[in-house]
Amino acid sequence: VRIKGDYKYELGELSSTLNYMAQEIVRSNQVKDDFISSISHELRTPLTSIKGWSETLDSGGYDPEETKIGMQIIAKETDRLIGLVEELLDFSKLQQNEMKLVKGIVNLRELLQEIILNLWAKAEKKGVTIKLESEEKPIIYGDANRLKQVFLNIVDNAVKFSHENGVINLYFTMEEKFVTVTVRDYGIGISEEHLRRVKDRFFQVNPLNGGTGLGLAITQQLVELHGGTMEMESELGHGTSVIVKLPLPEGKIPVAGGLENGE
Ligand code: ADP
Repeated sequence: VRIKGDYKYELGELSSTLNYMAQEIVRSNQVKDDFISSISHELRTPLTSIKGWSETLDSGGYDPEETKIGMQIIAKETDRLIGLVEELLDFSKLQQNEMKLVKGIVNLRELLQEIILNLWAKAEKKGVTIKLESEEKPIIYGDANRLKQVFLNIVDNAVKFSHENGVINLYFTMEEKFVTVTVRDYGIGISEEHLRRVKDRFFQVNPLNGGTGLGLAITQQLVELHGGTMEMESELGHGTSVIVKLPLPEGKIPVAGGLENGE
C-alpha cells in the first residue's frame, strides 16, 4: 500500500477489498462445509444399509430368497459407494490437471444408444421415455469411457428431474467442424438464479435430493478436455436442455469396415 498521496482513499479501498475477500472466504468455507456434510450423508446411507443387512444375514434363520435379497442390496449399496469414491477421485484429478484421456474413435450414436439402454430400467420406473431423434451417425475422436460418463450424467439428471411419464429427446445438430448433442427434458426446470450456479462444483438446488453437486462440474470439465463446450438452458417448470458441442475430426478417419468422415 502506498502511504503517500491520498492515503485515506487508498486505505478505504484496501479495507473494502479486504472486506470483500473475507466475505468470499466465509462463503467458500460455507460451500465446503455444506459439501462435507452432504458427502458424509452420501457415505453414511449406503454404509448403514450394508451394516444392517450383513448383521441381519449373519444372525441366520433367513430363507434363501430373503438371503438373496439382502445380498443384492449389499452389492447395490457397495456399487453406490464405489461410484461416489470414483466421482471424488475424478474431481480431484481434474482439479490437479491430472486427468488423462485415452482417445480413440467414438461413434456417438452407438454411445447414446448404450446410455439409453443403461438408463432404461430407471426411466421405465417413472414411465419416462428417452428418444434418440436424429438419424446422423457422428464419429468423433475422444475417450469413449469419459464421454459415456458425460452423457450418462446428463441423461441421468434428465430422468431424475423429469415428471412421471415424461419424454426426453436426444438429438444431434451437425455443423462443419462440430457436432452438437442436445439432451432436452420437460421436467421441473431450473430458475434463472440457480442456472447461473448449477455447473459450479458442490452446488445443488436441493441438497435433499442426494448427490454431491460434483456431477455437472466434472461433466463440463471432461467436455472441455475434449475441446468442446457445455451450455444449459432452462425454464422453471418447463424443463431443461443441456447442449454439448464437440469438435469433429478433420478429414477422413478410419473406422471398422472402411473409411468414414465425421458426418
Ligand atoms: P449431482 O452430482 O449432485 O447430481 P449435478 O452437478 O449433476 O449434481 O447437478 C447439480 C444440480 O443441478 C442438481 O442438484 C439439480 O438441482 C440441478 N439439475 C441438473 N440437471 C437438471 C435437470 N435436467 N433438470 C433440473 N435440474 C437439474
